[in-house]
Amino acid sequence: MSPSQLPSEATMWKAVLSRDSAFDGIFFTAVKTTGIFCRPTCPARKPKPEHVEYFPDAKGALLAGYRPCKRCRPMAICGSPPPWLKPLLQAVEADPQKRWRDADLRSLGYSPSRIRRWFQSHHGMSFHAFSRARRMGTALGQIRLGKKVSSAAMDQDYESLSGFQEAFRKLLGTTPSRARSAPVLHVNRLATPLGLMLAAASDSALMLLEFCDRRALESQLRRLQRSWKGVLLPGENLLLEQSSDWLQAYFDGRKPAVPFALKPVGTPFQQRVWQALLDIPYGETCSYGQLAESLGKPAAVRAVGRANGANPIAILIPCHRVVGKDGRLTGYGGGLWRKKRLLELENPRPQAELQA
Ligand SMILES: [Zn+2]
Repeated sequence: MSPSQLPSEATMWKAVLSRDSAFDGIFFTAVKTTGIFCRPTCPARKPKPEHVEYFPDAKGALLAGYRPCKRCRPMAICGSPPPWLKPLLQAVEADPQKRWRDADLRSLGYSPSRIRRWFQSHHGMSFHAFSRARRMGTALGQIRLGKKVSSAAMDQDYESLSGFQEAFRKLLGTTPSRARSAPVLHVNRLATPLGLMLAAASDSALMLLEFCDRRALESQLRRLQRSWKGVLLPGENLLLEQSSDWLQAYFDGRKPAVPFALKPVGTPFQQRVWQALLDIPYGETCSYGQLAESLGKPAAVRAVGRANGANPIAILIPCHRVVGKDGRLTGYGGGLWRKKRLLELENPRPQAELQA
């Protein structure tokens, strides 16, 4: 994340002084002298401006070695929309067909550039791309309920049917008529204290859960799309709601049971490794060698390690519980800082051996 995604320092300092909640989620302040980072609205005493460092997200502050403040709890809002943005998101939900223009944003009291920044850093796309995807999802829903493709195109203000079909295919990976009867895999972003995750679930199983900033996410999505003989549709279903509840309970330290099926896409060998991961108890770790041995393949440590790294359902299939022989954390697709925090969450005793 580059500093150019931040407002100017003068603007940020002014927001800190006035505890302006409109900047919640836009930037974080870290204080060099205390090693702690905060939301702009933190009620604690204000630091000296020369001691403050600014970050566009909590991840940046954590990576720079700062600890989250206990009073304003900056991790709690990581990924979830801040209060100032909620009226806009509600307006989008109330009228998903609406085409948003900058003037509409201004008339609601929003600065288009701030909206752009927030959506770029939290969804990796502009607000306009976000609302376009939302509109297309609605069109798909209507087509599946029996609406004619041509009238869906008209509702969406497309001048030609082929223009609509092309935009539909680009966003959803299939044509409107094929989408009518195909089985649906719902894809949505879920907020967690460690950042946004992308989840995909059918009506019967969770198939993907991965951090949105992970590089391998795109290839995992492609693999899923190839193996799934239906459409991927942005939006909610029961399984995704349950996944979101599960994550909430997990990050609260409640050791929740998994109330739904997991169906990761992979080779038979990968499936065996992922199954073995499910046997590593909460709060414990195991080495790659031990994992290979438990599969009856003590010589296949590297292949087991690769399969571990290819796990498409992070956290629920606990690939983070596999560590190096000497207890070092070695690799983690979502980043070592996340692996460290997951292991600390599951086993809060001081873990001197947890070395990134
Ligand atoms: Zn604070």
